Amino acid sequence: MLEIENKDRFGKVIADALAKIELTVTDAGMKKRWINAIAKAAVEIEENGVFMTYQEDDHSLIIWSQKSNNIYTANGVCQCRAFEQGSPCFHRAAARLVRLYLEAENAPTEVRMQGEEIPYLKNNGYTKVERIGAIRIN
Ligand SMILES: [Zn+2]
Repeated sequence: MLEIENKDRFGKVIADALAKIELTVTDAGMKKRWINAIAKAAVEIEENGVFMTYQEDDHSLIIWSQKSNNIYTANGVCQCRAFEQGSPCFHRAAARLVRLYLEAENAPTEVRMQGEEIPYLKNNGYTKVERIGAIRIN
């Protein structure tokens, strides 16, 4: 289960990824395919994040495709047909977006997998913690 809580940060990661494609990919067709892959990845993460799991240890994103009923484990590589054909796929784009998003995350309370608890930030009933320095935490 992957949930993007900070839409602004996620938006910035997407913008950066698109800018990077613009700067680094010279082939026009390839550029277009990557831009499409990133756009699809952004939508898929928003709408189907529930079918995705990010693995910190190898930076891979596990995606259960509802359409094909396949499970893809994407980081730099993928198991889908597009990747086999040497084309950009949204799985890889999504894995990268999620990785960059999480790396940009400096307030660990803002993004977490559902069900996880951070015990030291639990409200103990005496004080209501809302900020740590300039960082809003709830
Ligand atoms: Zn793929």
